[in-house]
Amino acid sequence: MPHPPPGYFTHGLEADPELEAAINGELARQRDGIELIASENIVSRLVLAAQGSVLTNKTVEGAAYARYYGGAAFADAIEALAIERAKKLFKCRFANVQPHSGSNANAGVFLGLLKLGDAILSMVVAAGGHISHGHKATLTGRDYKIAHYGVNHESELIDLDQVRDLARASHPKMIVAGGSAYPRAIDFATLRAIADEVGALLLVDMAHFAGLVATGLYPHPFPHAHVVTTTTYKSLRGARGGMVLWNDESLSRRIDAGVFPGVQGSVMLHAVAGKAACLGEALRPEFCAYNEAVLANARALAATLANNGLRIVTGGTDMGLMLVDLTATGITGDVAAKALEKAGLAVNKNMIPFDPRPPEAPSGLRLSSNAGTTRGFGACEFERIGGWIARIVRNPSDLRGIKDMREEVLALCGAFPIY
Ligand SMILES: *Cc1c(COP(=O)(O)O)cnc(C)c1O
Repeated sequence: MPHPPPGYFTHGLEADPELEAAINGELARQRDGIELIASENIVSRLVLAAQGSVLTNKTVEGAAYARYYGGAAFADAIEALAIERAKKLFKCRFANVQPHSGSNANAGVFLGLLKLGDAILSMVVAAGGHISHGHKATLTGRDYKIAHYGVNHESELIDLDQVRDLARASHPKMIVAGGSAYPRAIDFATLRAIADEVGALLLVDMAHFAGLVATGLYPHPFPHAHVVTTTTYKSLRGARGGMVLWNDESLSRRIDAGVFPGVQGSVMLHAVAGKAACLGEALRPEFCAYNEAVLANARALAATLANNGLRIVTGGTDMGLMLVDLTATGITGDVAAKALEKAGLAVNKNMIPFDPRPPEAPSGLRLSSNAGTTRGFGACEFERIGGWIARIVRNPSDLRGIKDMREEVLALCGAFPIY
């Protein structure tokens, strides 16, 4: 066997037909289906190229320009570019672009800024919080004392009185805001006032609304938040990974050390390049137009569903994401999601606030306009999608109807091609 084997440096996926078939299957799924899952988006060729580049070969550890390994000149330049762009986009003084994921960004911040056993006050998953904010199944839930706030029963908005009461009772060192299924604007100023009253830091995890923050379409977590975390592949439409942002220099050493070596090792430089790429795109005027469309489309979708008798949790949304309460239809989120998938509509089942049903068969669906907007859908298309969803959740076993709808979905996708 010669080394390297023939084709090692020249062949692509065709060298592995089994893998190629699966990846092409996924490409076809993305092309031919409508993506409504809120944690997804459709990245540019530029982001794909950066993430698929030779940067995957380079190992660096530590901060840019202070690496443990040599040969890091380009690595340093790439990471510095991502940091500069992140700071410019979110108008802050410091950024760490190394977290491999949103969960790692949060874990790094906790590890850097808290002591083992410190109390954290965060939103409960059942009300829309994220599992990485201290759920008991995670390391964060084991290492810290967690208290959870929720939403008000009537308004379904964050119960700030409860946050204040719990803050006074549980003495958190950190209060966490931002979730994965909370569709409304968050009152960061009041949360900061509560944090100040009890001597806690305020962490805002903006994974689902970072794009809107960047473009001034959602309240900015700064100057209220001490620290902000985000994923870079949801509303930011970029590389898989996370980021940490802050303004207070006295936090820098601890945050950086919390990420590395605290919770992870060497840098995923290809992902950092992907972050630089998507942050560069987000700094362009087109990203403003995109986010305006995300909002308009989400509102069109929510209104269509509501007009078809489906209750939208909180009555609407302030971002791309919304929660649909299926209680009135008599079917559960898991059944609805499976039926919708047959028509080519990808959604996820989700708990609604005070859900009497279990997470495996919850009362709701979570939808988002992020990915559809990226492929060019406007309000018209989202109204059609809303109509399809309403029809299917009313009649999830109408296989004939679903088959016809699949054809319509294919036609719509064909009119808005990707890649
Ligand atoms: C998606 C999400 C995360 C976690 O991201 P991973 O990249 O899956 O670790 C963290 N926080 C919030 C609010 C999220 O929505």
